[in-house]
Amino acid sequence: MTDTLHLDKRQRAMLAEMGVRVWAPLSEAAVMDAPVVVQAPAAGHDTAAWQMPAPVAKAEPAPLIVQRPEGVGQMDWSVLLSTVSGCQACSLCGSRQNTVFGVGAPAAEGQTPQVDWLIVGEAPGENEDLQGEPFVGQAGKLLDNMLGAMKLSRTGERTAEGGGVYIANVLKCRPPGNRNPKPEEVAQCLPYLERQVALLKPKMILAMGRFAVQALLRDTMPEVETTPLGKLRGRVYQYQNLPVVVTYHPAYVLRNLPEKAKVWADLCLAMAHLKGAK
Ligand code: URA
Repeated sequence: MTDTLHLDKRQRAMLAEMGVRVWAPLSEAAVMDAPVVVQAPAAGHDTAAWQMPAPVAKAEPAPLIVQRPEGVGQMDWSVLLSTVSGCQACSLCGSRQNTVFGVGAPAAEGQTPQVDWLIVGEAPGENEDLQGEPFVGQAGKLLDNMLGAMKLSRTGERTAEGGGVYIANVLKCRPPGNRNPKPEEVAQCLPYLERQVALLKPKMILAMGRFAVQALLRDTMPEVETTPLGKLRGRVYQYQNLPVVVTYHPAYVLRNLPEKAKVWADLCLAMAHLKGAK
């Protein structure tokens, strides 16, 4: 007889104690949720096999998804940071090495960094996941060079002349294999970025790449979903009443070096807007 059951951990352990073979599918994610097939011996068949110790299914347990805590919009910087580091609101928590909250100008323990610039990227890649810091790979080197050309740096302080940068991503966890973020992952993670923006109150937001641009602008401008990024460049947008300039992602520029000049033009637009606003 074949029966299909949904078993929790305790029930699985009890069945194993009783020598009942339980097969779980060997797929990655949905393993613990998937229906488990229990096979009983047919009448008159060898019950010794039925009594054999259960083979352990060699499946990774599915990540435990826990709803994102309420009240992200009221959290201070340190509570937000610790909430992100323990976040289990989507399946990326099961494959990450580290959450990547962001990096920027120095700040006293638990305090929000004082910055003029917020740079928003897409999601951590392999190096970022390992180091817990955004933009530390090849794209990050290019970003550091761009910041240098603007007389800024990722960890430089805000001075009387301005400056101070914070770098964050739309997603705080690495999508496996650096695939694109899924809409449900963006939906779960975006409140964290929203709160970072509200606390940092930067004077300029640089949205790098289409995931950053769409995440920041889609509520006020639904057409960003279908407009090529090249057509969105050259204007100053608003997010939370703060100016946003759109540009290409550094990883895209590394694959299309002639686009570097356009990124420089976008950075010049952002610098000119900031200077004009002072
Ligand atoms: N690309 C991103 O968008 N963010 C990173 O942190 C690294 C690469």
